[in-house]
Amino acid sequence: MPYHMNLDQILQLVNQTTQTVIQDEAPRVDQEAQWPEEGIRALQRNGLAGLVVPREEGGMGQGLYALARACETIGTVSASTALCYGMHCVGTAVIAAKATNQQRNEFLQPIAAGEHLTTLALSEPGTGSHFYFPQTQLLLQSDDEYLIRGSKTFVTNGGKADSYVVSTMGIEPDATLHEFSCVVVEKDRSGLEWGGEWKGLGMRGNSSRSLTLNDVRVPVQNLLGERGDQLWYVFQVVAPFFLTAMSGTYLGIAQAAFDNVRQHLMDRTHRHSGMSLSQLALLQHRAGMLWAKIERTRRLIYHATELADQGDPAAVLPILSAKAEVAHCAVDVVNEAMTLAGGIAYRDNSRLDVLLRDARAAHVMAPTTDLLYTWLGRALLDQPILDS
Ligand SMILES: Cc1cc2nc3c(=O)[nH]c(=O)nc-3n(C[C@H](O)[C@H](O)[C@H](O)COP(=O)(O)OP(=O)(O)OC[C@H]3O[C@@H](n4cnc5c(N)ncnc54)[C@H](O)[C@@H]3O)c2cc1C
Repeated sequence: MPYHMNLDQILQLVNQTTQTVIQDEAPRVDQEAQWPEEGIRALQRNGLAGLVVPREEGGMGQGLYALARACETIGTVSASTALCYGMHCVGTAVIAAKATNQQRNEFLQPIAAGEHLTTLALSEPGTGSHFYFPQTQLLLQSDDEYLIRGSKTFVTNGGKADSYVVSTMGIEPDATLHEFSCVVVEKDRSGLEWGGEWKGLGMRGNSSRSLTLNDVRVPVQNLLGERGDQLWYVFQVVAPFFLTAMSGTYLGIAQAAFDNVRQHLMDRTHRHSGMSLSQLALLQHRAGMLWAKIERTRRLIYHATELADQGDPAAVLPILSAKAEVAHCAVDVVNEAMTLAGGIAYRDNSRLDVLLRDARAAHVMAPTTDLLYTWLGRALLDQPILDS
């Protein structure tokens, strides 16, 4: 059973699923902008949807390090699949953080059993990359029910998940812009209105759709955590898991670009000289630099997530910087690989074309690169991290 597996066995299982089902489906996911149904179902079948579900609930009981490694592996063949899987795991972690008995039965156990897919609906058209300032309202309708009113954008797994972890302002009427709650909304609640299909430049299989919540009613039991938890969720759960899922995914993209160009440098031989590109000193030097860039980013991500899993407060800055650094790493490495691979990489739908388009989302996915460096600077200079 999956929950008896140790981390090595889990990562082996991720790798096996990636090299078979996810790899086979990857070209179609990108070219036809198709949500990675087969890959996600295979991950669920293999128990991997329960990666961060506690073992007591039938899950694998893993944390940030395992999430980074899983998303990295999947990201080497399909960044869309890695992100869809990652967002499911982030949503799961938010549910698990303070789950009630009812939430364990209704969400965590089915997630671990591969019968329930969840995801994160944080971003809003009004506040964009400032996802920690939701404007969606959570209104106490009666003793038993909340009413949710607002709009979300870029909901990965949109229309495909069984539930959505939706961020809202605190509970009205006393909520302010700085308050933050999370609530689970099941897919069949009435009042959920989906926007059109996702047509992305990259991450084309994500089904990142917009969602309007038209006075959606949910039972009060769907509130995650307690009133007053507020920003605790952002910094203790949402941000570390969200950042880690993305860090792993974009690291996978960088590694895939390197593997692709390394092979090209070894295979491509010029007739006039009889030499392969791998024999040219300048290209050897540039390949070395690429490897070093990926490796130092990988070490930062692994270090940050291991610290966080140990509950070390010193993990905050490494976790923030890991996603900012991996965004630069992925975009730079794919760009450079494009140059080193020559004209052949410039073909429509070459592997590097796909990676370039996928990598480009790294800087704009919240928390964006600019915001992350700003937060780091504020923390280092003893300033409040969030702007008012
Ligand atoms: C493929 C994809 C998948 C996504 N999946 C999800 C998901 O599953 N769930 C989810 O909730 N969201 C998701 N998002 C949304 C994402 O996380 C961001 O919220 C969204 O891309 C922000 O876009 P925006 O245009 O509103 O940014 P804006 O807020 O308009 O920002 C535009 C630019 O200005 C910069 N900027 C803005 N304010 C500041 C500031 N104060 N200081 C410095 N720079 C600033 C930003 O860094 C950014 O570069 C996804 C996005 C993409 C592209």
